[in-house]
Amino acid sequence: MRRERVSDDIYVFTSELYAQVTASAVVTKDGIVVIDTLPFPVETREMIEYLRALGQGPIKYLVNTHWHGDHTNGNYLFDDTVELVCHRRCQQLMEEQGQIALDESRENTPLLDEVIIRVPDIVFDEGDLVLHVGNKSIEMTLTPGHTLDSTIAYVREDKVLLAADTVMPVPYFVWGSRHEFKNSLKFLKEYNLESIVQGHGEVLLRGEIPASLESSIRYLDLLEQKVTEVVEKGKSKDALEKLTIDRCGKSRIPLNGLVQDLHRANVYAIFDELTESNKTE
Ligand SMILES: [Zn+2]
Repeated sequence: MRRERVSDDIYVFTSELYAQVTASAVVTKDGIVVIDTLPFPVETREMIEYLRALGQGPIKYLVNTHWHGDHTNGNYLFDDTVELVCHRRCQQLMEEQGQIALDESRENTPLLDEVIIRVPDIVFDEGDLVLHVGNKSIEMTLTPGHTLDSTIAYVREDKVLLAADTVMPVPYFVWGSRHEFKNSLKFLKEYNLESIVQGHGEVLLRGEIPASLESSIRYLDLLEQKVTEVVEKGKSKDALEKLTIDRCGKSRIPLNGLVQDLHRANVYAIFDELTESNKTE
């Protein structure tokens, strides 16, 4: 686990075991708010111990940004004094799919054997939730795209956006909706930000943010355009292999190259969607 600070009061923890997943902690005068967990128990435990050792008060809340296990597998490691919070959609999806997804991941990952799904019991609905804790206001907003329950957390006083998977080195929409993803990314351009903590990978600094959001929006457009061309020309799935991530304007390097797998899954998802809709017409 790698640890860094993005402001006086905000700590970011990055997994070194899986896909550079991030979790964050906002230290307030009245306790700590944690946003997401790390994928494996060993790393979440390390994060909790570090936060305890800070001597800056107890962990009060754990907020989940979406139901995916790589961000929520550590929920059960927080003790009963910590309130677990998420959007109502996240609660629903975790109840319906959390255990199934965990069982699948366990098949090749023994490190997950001890994980128990723990679903947050405090939920918020459409619209924002502002968590006022100590001297901090943390705005939770639904930004669907990566998943339909994806939420961001904006710390007003620090102008830091804990964006989770709504901002990643490549937008990954196979679980959600690429159309909603584009709208959510456009919405993020309205914030005045010092930094964005992505759900995976490096923290984005002020000067990098506009270009990064723009390149993700452009990626979604280019991808749609290029896959549509393949479908319209009646080419087979093999032609999709030529649509590399570079050709859609994104680097192949982040997340140790894992972005290429995410990109490929995106390509196939659009192809299937477009060819399915052709069939039903
Ligand atoms: Zn995710």
